[in-house]
Amino acid sequence: MSRVTNYLFHSEPANIEPAWNDILTPPRPKSCKTILVAGGAGFLGSHLCELLIRKGHRVVCIDNFSTGRPENVRHLRSSGAFTLLRHDVVDPIDLKVDEIYNLACPASPPHYQADPIHTTKTSVLGALNLLENAARYNARILQASTSEIYGDPNVHPQVESYWGNVNPFGPRSCYDEGKRCAETLFHDFSRIRGVEIKIVRIFNTYGPRMRPDDGRVISNFIVQALRDEDITIHGDGSQTRSFCFVDDLVDGFLSMMASPASLTGPINLGNPVEFTVAELAGQVLALTGSRSRIVHRPLPTDDPRQRRPDISLAMHELCWQPRVVLAEGLKRTIAYFEAVLAAEGRKLTEVA
Ligand code: NAD
Ligand code: UDP
Repeated sequence: MSRVTNYLFHSEPANIEPAWNDILTPPRPKSCKTILVAGGAGFLGSHLCELLIRKGHRVVCIDNFSTGRPENVRHLRSSGAFTLLRHDVVDPIDLKVDEIYNLACPASPPHYQADPIHTTKTSVLGALNLLENAARYNARILQASTSEIYGDPNVHPQVESYWGNVNPFGPRSCYDEGKRCAETLFHDFSRIRGVEIKIVRIFNTYGPRMRPDDGRVISNFIVQALRDEDITIHGDGSQTRSFCFVDDLVDGFLSMMASPASLTGPINLGNPVEFTVAELAGQVLALTGSRSRIVHRPLPTDDPRQRRPDISLAMHELCWQPRVVLAEGLKRTIAYFEAVLAAEGRKLTEVA
């Protein structure tokens, strides 16, 4: 198996700093950990890296940049505690760290369905490779699992003890079954190899640094509204989701990672307030003051009818619950996309 050091020589792009010796010989205080974030250049990962750096840790971010972008974490370079490496988690890794967060996997349906075989490999081989690394260095490891484990749920709200209703070979299966298999691997590494594991099941989370072309509902609706384009509701809009703001979620990640070793999870993290997709469209229209029309598109295959987390376990075990209500989180996310679209507009004007 190749160490990442070798890998770096072969594939490091120009805009990524190696700082490899910094990782291996860190002159740092005892409370400071070296933490690996796989998928750290993505939407959630970039917020997590930022929070970990603010807490005084060294962060090594690995990413293949399939949906993430170096720009999401560029501001962290000046901290002197951040390293970014191009690496695909389907390949083995050898990196001495204290903790690992595994967020590597495209999360938006159009993105994870674009190359479904690589999506399954990412979840399954990625989990395997990161777990082997955790076992080698006795590192604690957290898996970003998902509410998709519950599929199109027959139990509502979803509790961790519910085993789910998942199609094993539909268009969402590469993601759902990949994530389910990753949970299996995590628990088997815990039972058989004694690895300290943590599994969080994340429910729909949104916020700044989502891509304008991410494809998930909140970013789609906001971008459509800001451009005065049609708002595309799939189906009649009566399907439900429960939306968590990113700041709340990453706080939950850290609480879970710091929890007693006996708390392996899975544990639900999400906002338990449920909205229909039509209600969400109404809120986005009102907050943006957009002239967009609402149009209806076919409901995608296997689109879950309802989704809301039961977060009793997180409240009890982690003293965690979300604080940011949807209207407030939407305002902050709209402000972010306004800035992104304005910058894109300026670039277009310059070219013209
Ligand atoms: P995202 O697509 O913005 O981030 C995923 C990151 O992983 C990107 O930076 C991407 O480039 C990277 N990546 C993908 N495949 C990789 C590979 N093979 N090797 C290395 N890096 C790879 O999505 P996100 O919303 O930030 O989601 C992060 C994690 O949280 C994912 O694992 C996702 O399944 C999970 N999750 C997110 C949500 C949510 O609502 N945001 C909900 C449930 C689960
Ligand atoms: N959705 C929609 N319009 C869009 C994008 C998504 O109506 O432009 C719907 C989608 O069909 C689903 C819900 O919004 O019912 C949430 O979709 P998203 O892709 O954000 O997340 P997931 O389905 O994975 O929960």
